[in-house]
Amino acid sequence: MMTYSKEMIYLSNQITLNDIFKSLPSYPHFVNGIRRAPKRELTLNQKDIKLALKNALRYIPKAWHDEVAPEFLDELLTHGRIYGYRFRPQGQIKGLPIEKYKGKTLEGKALQVMIDNNLDFDVALYPYELVTYGETGQVCQNWMQYHLIKKYLELMTDEQTLSILSGHPLGLFKSHKQAPRVVLTNGLMVGLYDNMKDFNRAQALGVANYGQMTAGGLMYIGPQGIVHGTYSTLLNAGRLKLNIPDHENLKGKLFVSSGLGGMSGAQGKAIEIAGGVGIIAEVDLSRIETRHSQHWVSIVTHDKKETFDIALKYQQSQKAVAIAYHGNVVDLLEYANQNDIKIDLLSDQTSCHAVYEGGYCPVDLSFEERTKLLNQDKSLFIEKVNASLHRHYLAIKALSLKGTFFFDYGNSFLKAIYDSGLKEICKNKENDLDGFIYPSYVEELMGPLLFDYGYGPFRWVCLSGNENDLDLTDQVAMSCIDPKRRFQDKDNYDWIKNAKENQLVVGTKARILYQDAEGRLKIALAFNKLVREKKTGPIMLGRDHHDTGGTDSPFRETANIKDGSNIMADMATHVALGNALRGMSLVALHNGGGVGIGKAINGGYGMVLDGSKRVDEILKQAMIYDVMAGVSRRSWATNKNAFETTKTFNSTHEDASVLLPFVADEKLLDQTMKAKGINDEK
Ligand code: NAD
Repeated sequence: MMTYSKEMIYLSNQITLNDIFKSLPSYPHFVNGIRRAPKRELTLNQKDIKLALKNALRYIPKAWHDEVAPEFLDELLTHGRIYGYRFRPQGQIKGLPIEKYKGKTLEGKALQVMIDNNLDFDVALYPYELVTYGETGQVCQNWMQYHLIKKYLELMTDEQTLSILSGHPLGLFKSHKQAPRVVLTNGLMVGLYDNMKDFNRAQALGVANYGQMTAGGLMYIGPQGIVHGTYSTLLNAGRLKLNIPDHENLKGKLFVSSGLGGMSGAQGKAIEIAGGVGIIAEVDLSRIETRHSQHWVSIVTHDKKETFDIALKYQQSQKAVAIAYHGNVVDLLEYANQNDIKIDLLSDQTSCHAVYEGGYCPVDLSFEERTKLLNQDKSLFIEKVNASLHRHYLAIKALSLKGTFFFDYGNSFLKAIYDSGLKEICKNKENDLDGFIYPSYVEELMGPLLFDYGYGPFRWVCLSGNENDLDLTDQVAMSCIDPKRRFQDKDNYDWIKNAKENQLVVGTKARILYQDAEGRLKIALAFNKLVREKKTGPIMLGRDHHDTGGTDSPFRETANIKDGSNIMADMATHVALGNALRGMSLVALHNGGGVGIGKAINGGYGMVLDGSKRVDEILKQAMIYDVMAGVSRRSWATNKNAFETTKTFNSTHEDASVLLPFVADEKLLDQTMKAKGINDEK
């Protein structure tokens, strides 16, 4: 039995930072022009500060404590967190071709590619603070964890599994060849403490990580990951609300939104691909410059009149364009309202899931002033956020009355308005239990038209880093789709056909393609065959957590679940467990995701295709389960399209049997209640 002396005894198979750095690395030089995270909320008392310091020093060999302890304390007080900047590799980090990584397993090397891609200067929002996207979505908590995770991935055999808890690599444990190689969780809190205040404390103590979805879930592929979903959402909004026929695009229509950050950066590209005109307001000029240099927006403006004049010109000539307006979205909407400008589709993608942490810039502050005030006077900052949200709401309300279709785009915007004190935003004018007066995009669009059929954000990364591999996988994926089956298949077919031309890649050679269960399996098996026949290098499959079965989130992914179970987190948990037992290479389960702590539980997976028959067998079980578990739950909630999809599934899969609901007649229910003297008034 191991005994602990004051100086811990390290055995030969134990890993320390000494295995990575022979001596204490020198303090890094920070590259100019790289965005830095604002100071995070720090409310620790003296005892907790000591604990945070002690916690972080657990990663540091004892001989370095004298030098590192004051530095960590300084980081905590200055940045609100201990990131361990000293241990960050100097300069740029990139997801390299897989053969550049060391490891005993393909999965171990593949996951290193994914981690590095999430921290690439061109991909990550705040690369020095390990934030990939969504203002606070981190790969792990600090640079010590980054190195140790990578080291474990190098050493891992195909009979071991690495457990990662909120970025902390707990260690390698014996498992078996069919088991996941990595199981990770982020930010899972005990219910009593599942709130922002306690989470902030846990983060500052260094025991919790906010993984968002694919940031901590390691499957982020740049804003491309959301372009396809945004494209489908906008097209379907047009079909449903603007009477655009299924075969038409959004030509001549105006879409206005905000945010050109990690995910929101997809909006410009998506509206252009959908054929419409888009204006995206963004307060941070550096983010506009990034998206402009990547050709994700075509025109940059600084003046409101000029912005709408350009938009109108393009609308009249029915040409597609994405305009980035440098300024606050509230100003822009108030201007549109005052000047009776017709906006067809309206949304918002500021980081309202972290509305008081800097995710939402109040209207009377510039981006720079917002950062300063956030550091100096948090309560005044909160006051300004709330006042801005009220003005934002009033502008949306006025525009909606003139015919604009507004929808919440999964950033907790409507919830933030409610939390700011405006009950008018609630359907029942009291609380958020019955939802809000404006729809969430999942409630009306993505839920019934995509998720209920199983269509979701399937994706892959060509681990060789080779452009030819991506081209070939695009072609093979396209050959797996029958565009005549449903309008969704036609949209997906058009998407993949034009994907290369649309220059979507930022970071690794990756592709997003919405597919249903059968479509994903067909493509996955075809790709594994490509790898087997050495036509491509190995491929990493994955998906966003934001999917049919991936996320329980009453204000977003499960907003169209109406049987009361939208407040339950059973589905996402089951899907993660089910994927693990079927042998996905990586399984992740998170708290928060795109809407914030306590508001969602979400999970994802990564599956490395090595061409083997073993992988074929895992795919046949896991790819179908992953999607159909979600569709089945939606079917049980009596969602019509999910019910039909599940019925077909039951009749075409001998080895599965899903319970289908009997749907009670509404009139019968009313009569039964009335007979007992229970009616609406009572
Ligand atoms: P981000 O923080 O990288 O980007 C948000 C951007 O909004 C920032 O660039 C910020 O400067 C800008 N901004 C903030 N306040 C503004 C204002 N008042 N006017 C104009 N610009 C303003 O975050 P992200 O990764 O782009 O995600 C945005 C939000 O969308 C998050 O809440 C995220 O959880 C959510 N999200 C939604 C989906 C989805 O599928 N719908 C997917 C992922 C993320």
